[in-house]
Parts: sequence; structure tokens; C-alpha cells
Amino acid sequence: MTSAPSGKRVALHACCGPCLLEPYDALVDEGAEVVVVYYNPNIHPEGEYQRRRDTLLGHALAAGIEVEVRPYDPVVWFETVAPHGSSRSERCRACYRLRLTEVARWAAENGFEAVASTLTVSPYQDADTITEEGRLACEAVGLEYLQRDYRDRYPDATRRSRDLGMYRQNYCGCVLSATEAAEERTARKAERQARRQA
Ligand code: SF4
Repeated sequence: MTSAPSGKRVALHACCGPCLLEPYDALVDEGAEVVVVYYNPNIHPEGEYQRRRDTLLGHALAAGIEVEVRPYDPVVWFETVAPHGSSRSERCRACYRLRLTEVARWAAENGFEAVASTLTVSPYQDADTITEEGRLACEAVGLEYLQRDYRDRYPDATRRSRDLGMYRQNYCGCVLSATEAAEERTARKAERQARRQA
């Protein structure tokens, strides 16, 4: 874990509304002045992107949270991340790099001192790779990357987002993850059926 961000202006990259809840509160509790940055060109299709963005914005409006929405540019994701295709680890690394690089660039241009990400609240993401890419993105523009592992707060994030009636997606974001998640659901269903018949 890096230094306490008390009093610092922190640009918090957020992937969606449910994942924002706990990391935002944690950083505010640490004394940071937090602005949320929504930059997720990985999300496919566009309707899904809009739904996740609007879920986050609806909560932010109600909670008085400032949000910067960066442009949705799925072409850049398909050009820089999709070529890593079947290697999920390399693909996700490139995806983290794309998003955190843009957030760090925007944060440096707008007078922030540090960057963090909500991605590490999800047990389905690779926290170590997120940290590596966050550090590299921040080093390139002279900012601090706040290494935080929020996975122990995932149950609270799940409960709170349900209580708030937030939209909760069932795949990570990209078109490949949608297919992978559907295949995993099918496999789990087949396993359950096989167990019942055994
Ligand atoms: S699975 Fe998620 S993190 Fe990995 S490439 Fe797809 S959208 Fe990005």
C-alpha cells in the first residue's frame, strides 16, 4: 500500500457504479479529495456502456460525487487490446493499461496528485497486474499511483449495490468477456444438472 492520500487530489478510475461504492468511501475516509473518472472503452456493446455509465452517474448525482466522463472510443480498444484476444492475462493487462494511461494523462493535465482504481474491489480482476499498470501509467506523467486492494470490501459492495437497486452486470465488459461469461454459466449449469442426475 502506498502513502496516505490525506489532502491530496485523487483521480479515481471507476469501471461501474457497484464497484465505485466502497473504494470511493475508503479514499474519502483516508482524507483524499476524490474525483471519479469514467473511462471504459472496453465495454461492449454501446448500450451496455451507456447503462453502466448511467448507473454510475445516477448514484454520483444522488451522492454529490464529481465525475469526469471521458469519451467512449471502442475503436481504440479493438485496435490496442483485442489483438491479445485469447490470452486473457495479456488481454486484461493491455485493457488496464489503456484505461489507466488515459486516466493518468487526464489527471496530470488537470492538477491531480494521485490516481487510484475501483478495479481492485472485484475478485474477478487481477489486482497485481492492475497495480503494475497503474504505477507505470502514473510514473510516465509524474503522478503517484495509490496501490489499494479492496477485495475484502467486495461483499459490502455487492450488498450495497443491491440495496440501492443498481444495475449489476454479469460480465466484465468486452465482447470476449461476454462470451467467456456465457460459456462459464453454461458449464456451471451442466455441472449442476450432472450432479442432480448422479
Ligand atoms: S475481460 Fe475485462 S479487463 Fe479483460 S480485456 Fe475484457 S473488459 Fe478488459
